[in-house]
Amino acid sequence: MSATETRIPVTLIPGDGIGPECVTAARRIVEATGAPIDWEDAEAGAEVFKKGIASGVPQETMDSIARTRVALKGPLETPVGFGEKSANVTLRKLFETYANVRPVRELPGVVTPYSGRGVDLVMVRENVEDLYAGIEYMQTPSVAQALKLISVKGSEKISRFAFEYARSEGRTSVACATKANIMKFSEGTLKRVFERVAPDYPEIESWHVIVDNCAHQLVKRPEQFEVICTTNMNGDILSDLSSALVGGLGYAPSANIGNEVAIFEAVHGSAPKYAGKNVINPTAVILSSVLMLRYLGLFEEAASIEHAIFVTMESGVLTGDVLGYDRGTPTTEYTDSIIGNLGKRTEGWTIREVKPLELPVLSSAPDYVRPTSRNVVGLDVFVESPLTADELGASLTELAAGTRLELKMISSRGTKVYPPIGAMTETGDHFRCRFIIRENPGDLWDEDVHQLLARVSRRHMWMHIEKLQEFDGELGFTRDQGEN
Ligand code: NAP
Repeated sequence: MSATETRIPVTLIPGDGIGPECVTAARRIVEATGAPIDWEDAEAGAEVFKKGIASGVPQETMDSIARTRVALKGPLETPVGFGEKSANVTLRKLFETYANVRPVRELPGVVTPYSGRGVDLVMVRENVEDLYAGIEYMQTPSVAQALKLISVKGSEKISRFAFEYARSEGRTSVACATKANIMKFSEGTLKRVFERVAPDYPEIESWHVIVDNCAHQLVKRPEQFEVICTTNMNGDILSDLSSALVGGLGYAPSANIGNEVAIFEAVHGSAPKYAGKNVINPTAVILSSVLMLRYLGLFEEAASIEHAIFVTMESGVLTGDVLGYDRGTPTTEYTDSIIGNLGKRTEGWTIREVKPLELPVLSSAPDYVRPTSRNVVGLDVFVESPLTADELGASLTELAAGTRLELKMISSRGTKVYPPIGAMTETGDHFRCRFIIRENPGDLWDEDVHQLLARVSRRHMWMHIEKLQEFDGELGFTRDQGEN
């Protein structure tokens, strides 16, 4: 045993569906190593939703995690449709676990088209920002909007985290995967910040890859990647893709790490059709507990479990997801086998030497980026209208007469439709109407905004406005397709 004799409290959430079977397996194995952990049982998920707690996470569970700062959890079911939010996302966000770490490596006995190629990579996914913030609106009865918020600070945290994680595992390269070529501000922020911080880690090679090519490269030549740093939704998709390369969700662990709290869980969900049948693969949660032990500094116990898993799998003891459910080893026997192999070492496979992870420390100033100059140069007014673009354009031009703003263009779903440019864009009931300051550019005042909106409201229904800003002389808004 490596660690100090101090007991470490950990919140344990069994979760839904197959969760309790996986979590029990992990708990038994961790206990069998003698790791000095005291579990605090807590609930979240389906049963909690049924009690009418809309977050799926009761206050006692929040209090337990706030106290222990570390949780091991099973998957939680999310009610489909409107209303309740995912309890998983709630936990990740409320404790600001900004980094989601998903290691993917080839495993003994799990034959895939990639076997023998040495796939061994870690997906580092930003975990609290992006489209998964779930800020959505129906802007008209037929047009939905989701806000994709990406901050410079969030991007710096995840970029530095990815490099620090690479360092802790002795890895030599980090790729940043974004869609910055299309979403220049949101996805572009991660790319720019990643490239700015990379020189602080001179021993680590870094490069940027466009996310769709990253998916392509992951399928074609996954062994080229060691660490991939990416935005929230991209990371969600790429990490499921990556886990399929090495045998599927049954082998995909994850860690959600923040400055204060870390939550460890499998990538997979509650797989309800297998619940209670003693057939599922608990390895993903067991490997999550290995990540947890390393986070807690219990490196020997972590390595001992990882070796025991490999020895078990090398000996052909595998679960039904790999061998077929009529032939697989039942979950409890698979767990017994791993416990029986604690202390043995794999001969054919390498278990990484891991050093303590240094979490990046960033300024807590709310105004993380301070521009030296800023101007509001115009206003986008989003309008719901059954008119054609030409009719709407003529009407808004007339209404804006005599105000400080003039109509520059109208777009439909990002493509300019007024003044017409001869394109074949189909329009609906949702228009973005861009007004710019007519003359003497300078700051736009709120009175100018109020005056324009009062005029627009005489004939049209607006549901949203956006100030067009410049920071340090740089445009803070994109142009539309077809706009000059
Ligand atoms: P899922 O539960 O991950 O299951 C999808 C499929 O993956 C299963 O049908 C099974 O494949 C395979 N699988 C997953 N875990 C496995 C394991 N441990 N052993 C063997 N096979 C395993 O995904 P889902 O059906 O989309 O989601 C079910 C519920 O879980 C939903 O309510 C969802 O919101 C929730 N969820 C929670 C989390 C989380 O708590 N972090 C994550 C994802 C989903 P086969 O059918 O091919 O055998």
